[in-house]
Amino acid sequence: MLESHVLGHWRGFEGEGRPLPDATTGAEVARIPLSGPDFGEVLGYARQVGGPALRALGFHQRAAILKDLGKFLRGHLDEFHALSTRTGATKRDSTVDVDGGIGVLFVYGGKGARELPERGLLADGGPEQVGKNGTFAVQHVYTPLTGAAVEINAFNFPVWGMLEKFAPAFLAGVPSVVKPASQTAYLTELVVRRIVESGLLPEGALQLVCAPPGDLADHLTGQDLLSVTGSAATAAALRAHPVVAGNAVRFTAEADSLNCSVLGPDARPGTPEFDLYVGQLVTEMTVKAGQKCTAIRRALVPRAVIEDVIGAVTAKLAEIHVGDPADDSVHMGPLASLSQRDEVRRALKTLTGEAQLVHGNPDAFGLSGANAENGGFLPPLLLRADPDARAPHAVEAFGPVSTVLPYDGPAHAVELAARGAGSLAGSVVSHDAAFVSAVGGGLAPWHGRLLLLNRDNAGESTGHGSPLPHTVHGGPGRAGGGEELGGIRAVLHHMQRTALQGSPEVLRAVVSP
Ligand code: NAP
Repeated sequence: MLESHVLGHWRGFEGEGRPLPDATTGAEVARIPLSGPDFGEVLGYARQVGGPALRALGFHQRAAILKDLGKFLRGHLDEFHALSTRTGATKRDSTVDVDGGIGVLFVYGGKGARELPERGLLADGGPEQVGKNGTFAVQHVYTPLTGAAVEINAFNFPVWGMLEKFAPAFLAGVPSVVKPASQTAYLTELVVRRIVESGLLPEGALQLVCAPPGDLADHLTGQDLLSVTGSAATAAALRAHPVVAGNAVRFTAEADSLNCSVLGPDARPGTPEFDLYVGQLVTEMTVKAGQKCTAIRRALVPRAVIEDVIGAVTAKLAEIHVGDPADDSVHMGPLASLSQRDEVRRALKTLTGEAQLVHGNPDAFGLSGANAENGGFLPPLLLRADPDARAPHAVEAFGPVSTVLPYDGPAHAVELAARGAGSLAGSVVSHDAAFVSAVGGGLAPWHGRLLLLNRDNAGESTGHGSPLPHTVHGGPGRAGGGEELGGIRAVLHHMQRTALQGSPEVLRAVVSP
């Protein structure tokens, strides 16, 4: 039975709990309780114990702790990877989640040391004189909110999802209350066990709730934050929660997203950009079995090369071995559960009402070392559709599924991208600066992050699907309208910006006591 780390202790809850099956075999990995702690007490502990302990430290001390924690967790990679396999993750998938999550701690540790003052109030720019005589000025400052950061995560990134939210909150001086998705909460629980054992964090800086959310949102105040990663429905329900809305709880959501990748007309078959585009699409369809909020769902290609693209992508997809994620020869493991697989099948059914399946058969495919009855397996599934079809721009199949759509000219590509109604990540693959500039500028308002990929930057590129601690992670509209990461901006999100007005010398004394 999974436990929660609340009020300074590990705590279990009574009852049989709900079994959490291994994604590959269906065997029970753990159970999650059906009831949880008193959320009023959990949030009270964060506010009364965690917040003061964190705020007693300066930015540089908190940054150093993040780095030390990263080093400590690196010593447990084997154990984390072994358990991660049970979520359906291959070695490559686990690296994205586990190593990527630990990497966020190092980046925020480094940024905190370099970009923030050692301690004291965080000044936003310098004082600005308002009166004519110079006796009255304005100075904006940031101070940490005195509440808790409640962090609700999706099942697909049990480690990265927690750490990418925790690191900026910690650096700001705000305690975290983490609620992982039930499906894969056992991996989050293991990582938090090691974090607690490290003894590095101040008391109350991180609490973990492995239980249903219950009345958690009812206890939030205007000094708390709520960040949600998950489906659009969950994000919408929490955004409209009467306490969240009524108390103006600082809210951010990362929801689903129909990300696109645009191939430039210059990138004909035989060019490096054509190969980059094809390789990237295959990667995005197969890493984490396509269960990535940033995965490419819509491949927008010039009408003249659609057959070439489909031919090249299907040739590569034919080489993908699906099966037991513990087997090193397997490229793609199962989805996180049978119910996730069924959900993808349902979405696929809607998509195939308007699109044609050009690669993969969900009912007949090869499997290495696994049984399709027990695990959430699907093959990579490539579709092709008319650009005016509605479903590819509206339905997210959260699995190894992507649709190729033809476009006619840069303005059309931008218009089609915008039909996704707001995305986390997009990419333009082209070596034609004029095309990239026209399409990139048109796509930007619809995206939180845009990769402009070509032969010159491909060697160092981190790829379409990988948000970095340095980049915004979030997007407008359908993507949830939130923003995470993006460097120090995510730290500032946990702080109040206040305009101090007074004599310049008083303002200086307040900022640097
Ligand atoms: P979900 O069902 O919305 O669940 C997400 C999280 O919200 C889980 O921890 C869930 O807890 C919790 N939750 C559900 N109802 C809640 C409520 N009323 N109050 C508080 N918490 C609640 O989504 P999912 O199926 O896990 O994730 C898949 C979706 O997430 C996909 O659509 C994908 O696009 C999206 N996603 C987005 C991002 C991103 O960064 N934008 C990243 C990953 C995934 P339980 O698990 O205990 O129900």
